[in-house]
Amino acid sequence: MRYLGSLVTAVLVLIVTIGVGLYVDRKHEAMHTRNASVTVGLERMVRLNQAMDSVLRAAVHEQNGLRASGYDTLQQELEVTMRGVVKDSLDLPLASEIAALAGDHLTLRQVESRALAHIQREQWKEARAVLFDERFELSRKIYEINSETTVGALTGELAAITAGLDEMKQGVLAALVCVMLLLIGIGAAFTRRIQLEQRQQARLQAEITRANDELEAKVKQRTVELEIANDKLQMLSTTDALTGLSNRRHFDAQWHTEWQRALRAGNPIAMIMLDVDHFKAFNDSLGHPAGDGCLQRVGGILGAVRSRPGDLAARYGGEEFVVILPTCDGPLARAKAEGLREAIFGAAIAHPQSPTAPVVTVSAGVASCIPRMGQDPADLLGLADQALYQAKLQGRNRVMLAA
Ligand code: GH3
Ligand code: MG
Ligand code: MG
Repeated sequence: MRYLGSLVTAVLVLIVTIGVGLYVDRKHEAMHTRNASVTVGLERMVRLNQAMDSVLRAAVHEQNGLRASGYDTLQQELEVTMRGVVKDSLDLPLASEIAALAGDHLTLRQVESRALAHIQREQWKEARAVLFDERFELSRKIYEINSETTVGALTGELAAITAGLDEMKQGVLAALVCVMLLLIGIGAAFTRRIQLEQRQQARLQAEITRANDELEAKVKQRTVELEIANDKLQMLSTTDALTGLSNRRHFDAQWHTEWQRALRAGNPIAMIMLDVDHFKAFNDSLGHPAGDGCLQRVGGILGAVRSRPGDLAARYGGEEFVVILPTCDGPLARAKAEGLREAIFGAAIAHPQSPTAPVVTVSAGVASCIPRMGQDPADLLGLADQALYQAKLQGRNRVMLAA
């Protein structure tokens, strides 16, 4: 759209130039025709003049010899000749000049008539005066008009017209050259603008590609970051912040999953519930931060003893922990619980205020079953909790298997 104006201007200039050229051509053609017509007219006038001159000479000659012959013949001949001259003169296209010429010729004829009248009355002196003096003057006048004034003027007009046409031709030629130069200039400017725009577009394209690459790299990086953050979030949402074990929510979900799996497969599933003994006294004697440290160590031990896929240790709440043992019957689960208890006892975390031992101990309740259709998974949890309660009752630092 930006080049449309230039293009329209160029086309308009071209159309105007072609129009002017055609107009000048037509004008030149008309001038040429008119010149040819004027030339023909001039040639005819010269011929007429020559004829008239010879007629006048003949008349003079005849009049010289007519003094002894009949005057009627002279009168008729003169009239015929003059009529012819007048008729020829009126046919010429140069009407004004010819009309003037014809007027002179008519005057001449009147002179001749007057002379004839003098001759008929035998007034020879008067007739001679009229014929020779006046006719001579008229003849000279006509000759001058034709040869010098008229022909000269017309030739001058022709020359002026020709010169004018030449000037016009030169002007048109110069205009054409100017238009050509203008068109070449417009074309060059147009090309330069196109090249400039092409370079700008290439630069823009390169910038867009670079920005695109940068954006793509950023998106990739952000995607990786988001995936990491997502994993972290996922991990945080399923992990207990203090111990690093699974949290209660994750335990609930996993417990349900493993229960359903055991139900489908007809496998046994076991649950260990552990509780730190006299933990309140631990906190009270050693401080809450030390209590947190103790829970972290107990959690670490529970997390490390996972031996099979599907085993899951979780912090159930406070100082209570649970362990899920898929495809595990009661005795095996009890043995594992015993192993955990011993490991915690073996860690020898000092607990000076514990009535049970000088180190941190745990009590555990174990329950196991082969899930049945319609059985509530929470039932097994309850059984484990009851077994734990029994372990507490019977002196702590021990494992009880639910009956
Ligand atoms: P028992 O042997 O009967 O289990 O006695 P206990 O003192 O361990 O049980 P009790 O329920 O009386 O006390 C549990 C204490 O555990 C109370 C609470 O302050 C403490 N506790 C619970 N969660 C945390 C924790 O995240 N950090 C710390 N430091 N202490 C906790
Ligand atoms: Mg407790
Ligand atoms: Mg306790």
